[in-house]
Amino acid sequence: MSIKENDVHILFTGYSRPDSNDSSAMRANCTCTLIRTRNGRNIIVDTLTAWDGERLTEALQNLHGLKPEDIHVVVCTHGHSDHTGCNYLFRSAQWHFMGACVSNRDKYLDCPLSRGDSEPFQLCGDDVVVVRTPGHTLNCVSVLVRGTNLGEVVGVCGDLFERVEDIMDPTIWLEAGSENAESQRIQRLRMIEMCNYIIPGHGQGFAVTENMRELLRQQVNSNNTK
Ligand SMILES: [Zn+2]
Repeated sequence: MSIKENDVHILFTGYSRPDSNDSSAMRANCTCTLIRTRNGRNIIVDTLTAWDGERLTEALQNLHGLKPEDIHVVVCTHGHSDHTGCNYLFRSAQWHFMGACVSNRDKYLDCPLSRGDSEPFQLCGDDVVVVRTPGHTLNCVSVLVRGTNLGEVVGVCGDLFERVEDIMDPTIWLEAGSENAESQRIQRLRMIEMCNYIIPGHGQGFAVTENMRELLRQQVNSNNTK
């Protein structure tokens, strides 16, 4: 009998662009991802803005037959408002990750991840783990999912990657804001070496190619020689 996969579904594809009517503003919302593990756990990664509750509830129900109470874990890759807005829907979840900070109600977990260690936090054995990927913010995390419908290893990386185009053009992720660009460059390489498929913070998921890996190696190396 074949073992069921861990399914990774993009519920909403994020975006970020200048506001067409207001030159002092941006429009942005995150890519929102649902992970359904082979042992029946449902994990949501990045929960849009606080104004998206209805469409998120509808997408879970219509596409997956899930209610907010069916979500076991919420992971926000970092604490920005376009990645955390609908956390309030998922009050039955065991844990809410706000980056590396893990809580339920007023209870805050003291674990290696929240203390800053590089040790992965297992959400479903080795199949689904949360790892620190500091850069965009110092508290950023990514979720790694193994054995999936989208490839052997999927990285749900938040704003470590803005969108696929930022591999060719690093000004895209730098201009989106980085609290530590050097760390972000190294973490981007680490994730792309490890993953076959990456879901960025504000764009479509993409399959990783050897050419992409080589570009990010060059970006780390050329920065080291500066
Ligand atoms: Zn973002």
